[in-house]
Amino acid sequence: MNIHEYQSKELLRKYGVAVPTGHVAFTVDEAVEKAKSLSTEVSVVKAQIHAGGRGKAGGVKVAKNLDEVRTYADEILGKTLITHQTGPEGKEVKRLLIEEGCDIDQEYYIGLVLDRSTSRIVLMGSEEGGTEIEEVAEETPEKIFKEFIDPAVGLQGFQARRLAFNMNIPKDALGKAVKFMDGLYKVFVDNDCSIAEINPLVTTKQGDVLALDAKLNFDSNALYRQNNIVEYRDLDEEDEKEIEASKFDLSYIALDGNIGCMVNGAGLAMATMDIIKYKGGEPANFLDVGGGATAEKVTEAFKIILSDKHVKGSSSTFLAGL
Ligand code: GDP
Ligand code: MN
Repeated sequence: MNIHEYQSKELLRKYGVAVPTGHVAFTVDEAVEKAKSLSTEVSVVKAQIHAGGRGKAGGVKVAKNLDEVRTYADEILGKTLITHQTGPEGKEVKRLLIEEGCDIDQEYYIGLVLDRSTSRIVLMGSEEGGTEIEEVAEETPEKIFKEFIDPAVGLQGFQARRLAFNMNIPKDALGKAVKFMDGLYKVFVDNDCSIAEINPLVTTKQGDVLALDAKLNFDSNALYRQNNIVEYRDLDEEDEKEIEASKFDLSYIALDGNIGCMVNGAGLAMATMDIIKYKGGEPANFLDVGGGATAEKVTEAFKIILSDKHVKGSSSTFLAGL
């Protein structure tokens, strides 16, 4: 499950992880009100959608005064933002984060993710922050440093220091960076995160270490014990068909193609999608109705598949035609 940046920052703040002061706003007037309450003249107006790449798509604007806050809030609210993560249809902006501006010195990248090959949480860091980390991983992988964390003892001080050092964080900010990593690791473990990504992490001219952006994802299988996280859910950001499917305990993921797939068993569902792709088709969805599906479940699954207007045929007819 995904949450908004302002919610992620709220959670980070609770753990003592440094983030700029900021508030969510749902209207233009509210945005100006919230900006007034900040202690800086310069503020940042940020589109809140469940996708990154907002900066390049015009969803992050630095406002020098309240008039500019109004102009930018008016421009961004209600706009459909198309970023490299939203798909071509984009996402409509319904919430803004109004945040204190800060004097950025350097931008870095910090991320936590579960590494399945070592069964450990891995802390990654790079001095190539602010840009797309996927590009760094592709072109200059040696600039990404990793620390694998032993679950029995957690993130060790020497690991955090080594990473901060490798990332070329200035000496006088090392202590703050280590504290930041420590807090971020606690957030990750306590809340059953699947991803915690801070891009950029910044050092400021005043010597602070702050999360300017924050993306947290949570393991859906653990939500039963994370009621505080479930409250952050924003159904506006989720696919209607996927919400419907979750009510009936169906594993459904909407995709971009036109061939509907109704399959019992995740392995078979994956294999079906593979064959469709292999033969030049595009699946409209992944769907596992599970073993022992009832007539009711299958009926609901058919309704969900057929409510997708892109669906022009079924996987069984496609495969029969091969
Ligand atoms: P993303 O594009 O969706 O990942 O959004 P980010 O929150 O990462 O913002 C994109 C970029 O905007 C950052 O890399 C920063 O360079 C810039 N930015 C964000 N917040 C601030 C801020 O408070 N002050 C300044 N000067 N720039 C900011
Ligand atoms: Mn970012």
